[in-house]
Amino acid sequence: MKNRELIDKLNKEKHLSEAEWIQIFDTWDAYDLQYATRVANCIALERFGRKIYFRGIVEFTNICRNDCYYCGIRCSNSKVSRYRLDEEDILKCCADGYDHGFRTFVLQGGEDPYYTQEKMCGIVKRISEEYPDCAVTVSIGELSREYYQALYDAGARRYLLRHETADPEHYAMLHPKTQTLANRMRCLRDLKEIGFQTGCGIMIGTPHQTSRYLAEDMMFMTDFRPEMIGLGPFIPHHDTPFRDEPAGSVDLTLLVIALCRIMLPDALIPSTTALGTAEAEGRQKGVLAGCNVVMPNLSPLEVRKKYMLYDGKTGTDMSAETGIRVLREQMEAIGYEVVVARGDFQERK
Ligand code: SAM
Repeated sequence: MKNRELIDKLNKEKHLSEAEWIQIFDTWDAYDLQYATRVANCIALERFGRKIYFRGIVEFTNICRNDCYYCGIRCSNSKVSRYRLDEEDILKCCADGYDHGFRTFVLQGGEDPYYTQEKMCGIVKRISEEYPDCAVTVSIGELSREYYQALYDAGARRYLLRHETADPEHYAMLHPKTQTLANRMRCLRDLKEIGFQTGCGIMIGTPHQTSRYLAEDMMFMTDFRPEMIGLGPFIPHHDTPFRDEPAGSVDLTLLVIALCRIMLPDALIPSTTALGTAEAEGRQKGVLAGCNVVMPNLSPLEVRKKYMLYDGKTGTDMSAETGIRVLREQMEAIGYEVVVARGDFQERK
């Protein structure tokens, strides 16, 4: 079967075999990409119209106990100037965001033991109580099931935890031995069972990534049915072991976005900062390939440059207000409208 026929098959049946996925990733060309993005764009337009959900992201700590080989804030990077925002700082970011029309706050950070279950739940509870019309999303890595449950009980309803790769051997090439795919997957299962709208995802073009690994990612997502999918190109950071590795391809990222949209039509798929960093028009291209969310940064300007996951991260030199305006303009330039709404996952029967 030709790749375009496989894309039609995916659209109809919502899954492909491992061999079919591998064929697409091994042999796709510019026409296949164009075809996949056109199909994905039609699906997104039909489900969401020309509406893009805005999520305000607060990067509240760059302290991390993990040592992921790709990440600029890994614990071994002694050159990072570390910071934490306290509860009042975080609430202030949410207040500013609320005034700008945000109805989802994403609390993201490294795995920082300072934010104990009690502290974190206190913050989530306060945001949920002060902004009952808003959704709280948390993204602070691998925790115990008990901690996840406590976050849910405190009012969080969404959790982002990219699986990074669904293959254990590839996972071991990207992380030290202390970090395992088995635990990452345990976390994702726990989150789903507790009732979170759960986000998984990968970087495209991580070192050693192959078509077979990408096929495994697609098959994992077919089964797991994430409500949200985070996808962006890998971009090297100069103070990590992957400093000399090439960045992931924007076109391959767009292809994976489009295939995810076709496979999971209802999913919330952000057009990521990494995509906007890799290419000036990256975020617009992401939307045209099927993304329906953008996540402007609400963190205070003073800390932006310290949350450098990769080199050249876009938006680190503009205030929250400017960043929001720029994104709004980018979306309007391609005929999309930014909406003030919680934008919960909704499955079509
Ligand atoms: N600690 C939380 C976690 O592990 O999910 C959230 C923060 S973590 C830094 C957020 C995501 O950034 C990771 O899941 C990873 O995919 C992405 N990331 C890290 N380094 C990156 C790089 N060099 N290029 C692109 N994305 C990167």
